[in-house]
Amino acid sequence: MARAAIDRAGELRLDSEKLAQLWETGAILHFSSNRFDVTKSESESAQSDSSIGDSYSLTFFAAEQIAAKLASGDFSTGEKFFLGFDGTTAYFAWCTEDAAIAAVKAEAKKQGVPADKLIAELPPKENFKTLREIGDDLSDAEMGLAVHAQALANWHHTHQFCSRCGATTTSAQGGSLRKCDKDATEHYPRTDPAIIVLVKDKDDRILLGRQKIWPEHRFSNFAGFVEPGESFENCVAREVGEEAGVSVDDVIYLGSQPWPFPASIMIAFHAITNNPEAARPDGQEIEEVRWYSRASMKQEILNKTLLLPPGMSVSRRMLEAWYCADGSDIADLTGGERWSS
Ligand SMILES: [Zn+2]
Repeated sequence: MARAAIDRAGELRLDSEKLAQLWETGAILHFSSNRFDVTKSESESAQSDSSIGDSYSLTFFAAEQIAAKLASGDFSTGEKFFLGFDGTTAYFAWCTEDAAIAAVKAEAKKQGVPADKLIAELPPKENFKTLREIGDDLSDAEMGLAVHAQALANWHHTHQFCSRCGATTTSAQGGSLRKCDKDATEHYPRTDPAIIVLVKDKDDRILLGRQKIWPEHRFSNFAGFVEPGESFENCVAREVGEEAGVSVDDVIYLGSQPWPFPASIMIAFHAITNNPEAARPDGQEIEEVRWYSRASMKQEILNKTLLLPPGMSVSRRMLEAWYCADGSDIADLTGGERWSS
């Protein structure tokens, strides 16, 4: 998900007239109630492996198609966000709420009952999918636009009011900020940093943990939010100590990945522990920790006693990079969790 291919063209955000012109000829994503409007790909050959499933791409709309969607009454008025310009085409997101979902939410609120179950009972719209469902299918350009659009939509949705005075706020500069309608203070989208770490020992084994809430046999790297006043490196040491009981040094930065569920960026490290024998789960968030060599990982996947993280996750990439570092075949790392919503 760290893939991005479209220039964000920040200089255009200040020119609202130009943005309005570009909208008319732009390529517009539609994000509604946490789902993208998508197109199902024609499959090239009949897949016998049912776990492969359908493949999707984002649908890009013209301004008049968006106008027709709005006129249908199926969606809220929504907001338009500028995502970037590749020299030929300007990209935007139209972020709305599905009218049927909004009606159910309002009714649930009136009755004082949770809305989730009622929303789940609505007839599914087959052409709307979550980023978790389609992430593995997207091109670099699509993924860059999708994470940008979703992160913006999530932030705007929860920042309708000024945190200083409580007055309403209005989206400005192509959606890159909101302005207070009363005191004109500017509010910028927030991104919450979280570290994720591949813990190794001197023998190049890796330590994985499993959270109580995960599907059976699912193991992954350790991760956690960076606290105020904390460096990434200190956060890595604290999280690994808390969740897995080992101390680490040699904390090395690997890369980062936007993770807009709802507003994070994952900063990835690897780290070496000198006391692997101290590994134990915290018993709270983590219920089990296990050391893996490449051979034991391969065997447990074959035995179906290890379910790897989904393909689009940074943790999967980290595991693959470690596994292949000695020339082992990535094809051994089959399967893994698939998100269904
Ligand atoms: Zn204000």
